[in-house]
Amino acid sequence: MKKDDSDVLIIGGGIVGSTLALLLGEAGWRVTIVDAASAPEIDETLGQGKPALRVSALTAASQRLLTSLDVWSWLAARRVAAYRGMQVWDAEGSGEIGFDADDVGVDALGHIVENELLLAALARRLQALPSVERLSNVRLTGYVRDAGQAVITMDNGEQRRAPLIVGADGANSPLRGMAGIPVRERDTGQAAVVTTVRTGIGHGGVARQTFLATGPLAFLPLIVEGRDDHCSIVWSTTPGEARRLTALGETDEGRVQLGVELARGLGGRLGDVEVIDAAPHFPITQRHAQRYVDDGLALVGDAAHSLHPLAGQGVNLGLMDAAVLAEEWIRARRRGAPAGDRRILARYERRRRNDNAAMLAAMQGFQRLFGSQQPALRLARNWGLSGVDRLMPVKRLLIRQALGEYGDLPERCQATSASWELAEDGKGRP
Ligand SMILES: Cc1cc2nc3c(=O)[nH]c(=O)nc-3n(C[C@H](O)[C@H](O)[C@H](O)COP(=O)(O)OP(=O)(O)OC[C@H]3O[C@@H](n4cnc5c(N)ncnc54)[C@H](O)[C@@H]3O)c2cc1C
Repeated sequence: MKKDDSDVLIIGGGIVGSTLALLLGEAGWRVTIVDAASAPEIDETLGQGKPALRVSALTAASQRLLTSLDVWSWLAARRVAAYRGMQVWDAEGSGEIGFDADDVGVDALGHIVENELLLAALARRLQALPSVERLSNVRLTGYVRDAGQAVITMDNGEQRRAPLIVGADGANSPLRGMAGIPVRERDTGQAAVVTTVRTGIGHGGVARQTFLATGPLAFLPLIVEGRDDHCSIVWSTTPGEARRLTALGETDEGRVQLGVELARGLGGRLGDVEVIDAAPHFPITQRHAQRYVDDGLALVGDAAHSLHPLAGQGVNLGLMDAAVLAEEWIRARRRGAPAGDRRILARYERRRRNDNAAMLAAMQGFQRLFGSQQPALRLARNWGLSGVDRLMPVKRLLIRQALGEYGDLPERCQATSASWELAEDGKGRP
């Protein structure tokens, strides 16, 4: 592909930007990805030994998207961990709720994948597409629109132009800033500590999350060499506490102490906990771009919205953005309409904004409810969790949300309606 022949420039080649590039590249679009990071390593040892620190819980809808792109089979042949159960409880009270794949007749409620493995799986597929070019280790430094084209400058001094541009450049999206798109921001007052542990008792394919006074603590199940005694930890807590936990992860002695605190936090449900990796932390800021689109420009993934990791939805929402945007653009081009048409971009925004806003609001509500020490709210959450646990129709609704089966889903991500009707009887498999 010649230098300025692209149909679209994608700024950011993370999970969301790479997926969008694959969707468009498969449809024959000429795509240039610009990423500040190095190209993902496609190493045959990936998926062996100690699991990577950063993982994502993927919904059934995301799994369907990755299956349709021929990414899932490569991942599954290496390392993914299915979970059939979820347990959520209030460490400060008596409320508890449990979900099981059998409640809705599915094989799994979701899968935990290592981010680096998913990035490698996407990069491997992208390499096979001649119409997709990836520029790695280069940073976007400037953006203007000129004669109907997006013109970008990079820190290597090069310029590129194309009619369309996408910001998939993460929560602090430089492109969003350069395009002058305002963002609503809410500091959650929390930071997330991540690490990997080995547990005394096997997780049995169950994802666990408990709400402590300082924030939620999640044990996400991993399968390592066929064993179910590893978990990935996401511990959301105050920034000061997060710094302390990260410091504990830096020495052998500290890691022993961190293991004791994790085991206590989980109420001993998985026995002793051994910390086997460092424990870095990430600030948690919820952000929502006030617009997802501009002239010939769209924002996807964390560039459009970033949210509290307590429901593990960030990547999933971003993948749905990518699939909807690709669906709208590919459909428009087949009809002979210009993909940069404002109405097409507006349709993308309409289809995604409400679902994303609802998830952001739900995360805020959860954090308020569980962060409160007010007796009335504590009573409400205990009653709420245990009450919902007894109400099968409400539980099914919540499971559908966890599976990503809601909203205006792109075609590739939909379960067939017939299978869901069967699943409602508890007999079918979507
Ligand atoms: C602790 C934690 C746990 C999480 N757990 C889950 C989970 O279980 N499930 C889930 O769905 N989500 C989870 N998330 C959220 C998830 O990690 C994010 O939503 C997701 O990574 C966003 O992907 P993205 O591709 O939009 O952005 P990013 O992954 O941030 O990628 C952005 C890309 O843009 C590039 N970039 C940035 N600036 C420039 C520039 N100037 N020029 C060129 N390139 C640039 C970067 O190099 C990067 O590759 C979690 C988040 C945290 C913090």
